[in-house]
This record gives sequence, C-alpha cells and structure tokens, in this order.
Amino acid sequence: MSDLDTLYRELILDHSKHPQHFGLADEDGAHATSHQKNPVCGDEITLRARVATDGQTIRDVTWEGSGCSISQASASMLSDLAVGMSRTEAAELIAGFREALRSRGQIELDEDVYGDAAALTGVSKFSARVKCAMLAWVALEDALARA
Ligand code: ZN
Repeated sequence: MSDLDTLYRELILDHSKHPQHFGLADEDGAHATSHQKNPVCGDEITLRARVATDGQTIRDVTWEGSGCSISQASASMLSDLAVGMSRTEAAELIAGFREALRSRGQIELDEDVYGDAAALTGVSKFSARVKCAMLAWVALEDALARA
C-alpha cells in the first residue's frame, strides 16, 4: 500500500469516527431534508440542506446516518465541503464526484477541489462500494432540488 493510500484510509476512518456536521439542524428558513438508503450495504443517510436568504448560498448541511465507514465518512467530508457554496458550485461538485466514482479508477478526485473527500478516489475501483460513497451526495442533490 502506498503512503497516499495509507493517508486516505486514515482520513476515512477519522471522519467516520468523528463525523462533522452530524445531527440535523433546526428546520428554520429555506431547507429540505433527504433520506437515502443503500440496501446493498445497509447504509442510511438523512441529510438536511439549508439555504441562505439569498436563495443561492448553502447555509449549512447537517446529517444523521448509520452504515459502513465509507458512507459515513463521505457524508462528513461532503458536509464540510458544501457549506458556503452556491447551488451551482455544489451541482458541479456533485457531478464531478459522480463522474470520478463511476470511472473505475480512471478519474482521480482533485484534492484542491474535493479536500478530504479526495480520499474517496480509490473507492471507484470497487464498484460494490460506489453507492456507499455516493449516498450523501445523492441526498444533497435531492435536498437542494427541493430547498
Ligand atoms: Zn456502505
């Protein structure tokens, strides 16, 4: 295993043990909540996105869930990343993540753009785990479409 693989593995474990933005925020203001399940692995994520009064900026992303470390770490990493983004930026972020995760290891996530979530790059080589990593991102996409 390369040093980078080791670092990425530690990042995933760290986020799954110390999830960021865990615990759903109050339902005040413009918001939407999305519940997503990955029955194959038993992962569940409930994610709430709140949008600022400008109607564009993501004010916060909070979530609760259970399941494997990849699904939980991914939700934690995404929440960190998405807060403060515009809807457009978040849509591009999600589209790029989906493309990379479905690339079977061909496309790497850029650490400058994806931060800690770049650690999920390696998941794209394991098609059975792609849904685990995608779950929170699908939930955010769904929530933003309705918030
Ligand atoms: Zn899973």
